[in-house]
Amino acid sequence: MTGNNKGGRRRGGSGRGGGNRKRRSGGRGGGGRGGGGRGRGGKGRGRRDDRSVSDRRFTTGKAEPIPADLPETEFAKFDLAPPLEAAIAAAGYVTPSPIQDQMIPLVLNEKNVMGRAQTGTGKTAAFLVPLLALLDEVEDAADNADAEPRGPVRILVVVPTRELAIQVAEESEKLTRFVPVRTICCYGGAPMDRQVRALRDSAVVVGTPGRLLDHIRRGNADLGKLDAVVLDEVDRMYDLGFRDDVDKILGACKSREQTILTSATINEDVERLIAKHVKEHETVVIETKTLTVDKVDQTFYFVEPTRKQELLLAVVDELQPTKGIVFVRTRFSVDRLTYQLQKKGVGAELIHSGIPQRKRERILQSFKESKFPLLIATDVAARGLDIDDVTHVINYDVPNHAEDYVHRVGRTARMGKTGTAVTFITLDDGAILTAIEKLINKEIRQEVFPGFEIKRAEEKRAEKKEQKRPPGMPPWANPARRRR
Ligand code: AMP
Repeated sequence: MTGNNKGGRRRGGSGRGGGNRKRRSGGRGGGGRGGGGRGRGGKGRGRRDDRSVSDRRFTTGKAEPIPADLPETEFAKFDLAPPLEAAIAAAGYVTPSPIQDQMIPLVLNEKNVMGRAQTGTGKTAAFLVPLLALLDEVEDAADNADAEPRGPVRILVVVPTRELAIQVAEESEKLTRFVPVRTICCYGGAPMDRQVRALRDSAVVVGTPGRLLDHIRRGNADLGKLDAVVLDEVDRMYDLGFRDDVDKILGACKSREQTILTSATINEDVERLIAKHVKEHETVVIETKTLTVDKVDQTFYFVEPTRKQELLLAVVDELQPTKGIVFVRTRFSVDRLTYQLQKKGVGAELIHSGIPQRKRERILQSFKESKFPLLIATDVAARGLDIDDVTHVINYDVPNHAEDYVHRVGRTARMGKTGTAVTFITLDDGAILTAIEKLINKEIRQEVFPGFEIKRAEEKRAEKKEQKRPPGMPPWANPARRRR
């Protein structure tokens, strides 16, 4: 936690590309030197990708050999260390996404950055790639491929949910495949002792605020040589009530040299946090508009509340989603709807915060592997899910906030793919529909499902009103009647 160490981390030129790129060393002795270059490394480890989510969380972090036939990517322009570039190619990334294009150079130049973007934009790699690039272990990996991964913590990523923690940790593991850097994922509900042991030799720590604070308070994590703290999805952390925890974590990370924030929205709370904890920073904005409007085919159906389930079955039958997420407002409704769908023979599973963590992980993994077509979820459970190829998002219930619509729809049409979002609107949902359209700056197309014509609903309402009309009330006093 001292100035000396900081001095040590701020060594100059990397020796690659003749550049003036800084890099960071953890301040401990390096690993043993071995023969350099690609094609060398890990001993007898299986490919990480073959493991289940739970197993993948605690890999040893040793470097794998770099395959010889990896393609060139457009990430070459960032002049990253070869093993990092190889990991990017092995992950299948070819072109940097807009947020990566903007954020990577800033973070490489050790700027504090506020990235306004949501999941699905590639924001995780936008901060992980450059932060990893600044580590000595990565820069020198070619000479130290057999080195043991080591602590102390260099990059701390704080995220709002367990699911997001797992996703960010997985992204970090993808990017550190060919370097001796270990990632640990810390969240509540998982055994503490395994995390404590893994913390000793992990340079990258990803976790939820509560559990991280627990480790910090118990002195389990050495934060004295921290390079960077990332607060991922700050707005959601605040929504979930982690304000104090975030404050305390930042207070405990005084030795950090860089602070990165990501947030889908920049509200007053986020601005206050930045003013208090981040001195100078650059802002990168990836417009919501470009996230949803261009690539997602968005429609809505008017529906009577009592006919939503019927409409869902009809829509599913029509669209035949192979990987669809159905958003429902409450846990209770999620349970009920899933049960009803299963009874009708639809392959549906559910996730919400009441489902035990292990079961949630199993369900998510099966969904990722397309073992069933429909995932029924609440907003909180689905937030930040990184599931590729979601074909359809169905908003069975409209979200409470327009911004949640953007988060939901962001599950599909990721990274340039196209997707479909269907929203069920009842007669009481007019205001939120308008708010959503204002936010995304686009009118959502109305469609009418045969047999569910809104006229019928209006007529029914009018009929009901007609029946209730007190004797002597003039017909023109009823607006429903006027429309007929
Ligand atoms: P994120 O917004 O970080 O949740 O990333 C969304 C998804 O995009 C993840 O599955 C990433 O692995 C993937 N991804 C990130 N960057 C790229 C890229 N440049 N090209 C293709 N896929 C990417």
